[in-house]
Amino acid sequence: MKERKANIYLGLVHGPVKNKYGKEVTTSVTNLDVHDIARSCRTFGFKGYFIITPVWAQHDLLGKMLGYWESDSANLYNPDRHDALKLIKLVNTIEESVCAIREREEGRDVLVAVTGANFQEDDGLVEAHELMEAVAEANGRPLLLLFGTGHGLVSSIVESADYRLTPIVGLAEDGYNHLSVRSAVAIYCERLACAQRNSDK
Ligand code: SAM
Repeated sequence: MKERKANIYLGLVHGPVKNKYGKEVTTSVTNLDVHDIARSCRTFGFKGYFIITPVWAQHDLLGKMLGYWESDSANLYNPDRHDALKLIKLVNTIEESVCAIREREEGRDVLVAVTGANFQEDDGLVEAHELMEAVAEANGRPLLLLFGTGHGLVSSIVESADYRLTPIVGLAEDGYNHLSVRSAVAIYCERLACAQRNSDK
């Protein structure tokens, strides 16, 4: 029996990611990614937004920022923002986010899908609707959708994922294709939602 709505979680990976030379690095968390991606997750009914960084100082900084938005005065000032930011969990590694999801989802194994601008056909790509079909047939297994920062996810993460989503391709004649991660998140949210709406028809 197919589940109607997918259990989707989003992970924004700050480390390890690639820098422009392809070297493994850790990037800094940005305020815009925290707020805007939380709103997309809330709007599209995702169950959690993991910010993944192994750097303790970044956890400390983010903890302070989120602490403000958890306060009663912030809730009164902007309840919608408070509501979206409640989805955020800070974790050190992708494995930690997988464990947290498995615990919340009564021990169900987590499916992992990755995104990237430069994935190639022979990486074994799936379209959003194929991913949603696979999730619907996986008997309620949750999905963790991973996005990179810097110059994208490292190859070990891309290769070990269960699914690699087809990249978003623009129409610039010179092939320019450099979306912000926030824009990429919003586009994939709509693609996945569209696939779920169509499967309900
Ligand atoms: N060149 C990098 C890459 O290959 O992913 C761009 C990094 S971009 C600033 C950060 C993240 O946004 C990527 O890791 C990916 O998750 C997402 N992203 C950006 N543009 C994308 C696109 N055209 N297709 C799919 N994902 C994209």
